[in-house]
Amino acid sequence: MADGRWLMADSFSPRMTVEHFTLAPGMAAEIIAHTRAGYPEEVCGIIAGRHDVGVALYRGRNVSPAPRVAYELDVETLARQIAFEDEGLTLAAIYHSHPAGPETPSPADVAKAFYPESVHIICSLADPRRSRLRGFRIVNGQVQEVGLG
Ligand SMILES: [Zn+2]
Repeated sequence: MADGRWLMADSFSPRMTVEHFTLAPGMAAEIIAHTRAGYPEEVCGIIAGRHDVGVALYRGRNVSPAPRVAYELDVETLARQIAFEDEGLTLAAIYHSHPAGPETPSPADVAKAFYPESVHIICSLADPRRSRLRGFRIVNGQVQEVGLG
């Protein structure tokens, strides 16, 4: 699943083959800061972007009933995309944290990935001294890593 290749190459369109996503300066640090602030619960948020470049980050609220092991973005944060889509931006990425788990999608993350055109960024604090960020494209249950820069 994490070998960097699609398992079902015929199930996606060319515009979903993005393999790299550029975070604006400070965005990685902001995701890590949010992750640390929310510990031991998972945190989540969204990144508005243009093509493969993140432009603006919005912290969301995790409204999952089990926030230590799952995340669910609040509707107010998701509704922000109406405003930024008016400015020509898209919901380029969704981030969430794994306070104690690896920086790879959990089975629930894959099953509940409702935004195939958004990069899913996961921040892990499993090693408290060294937070880790990785990006993934999740489409129809298939996972492909997206390089973050
Ligand atoms: Zn997760």
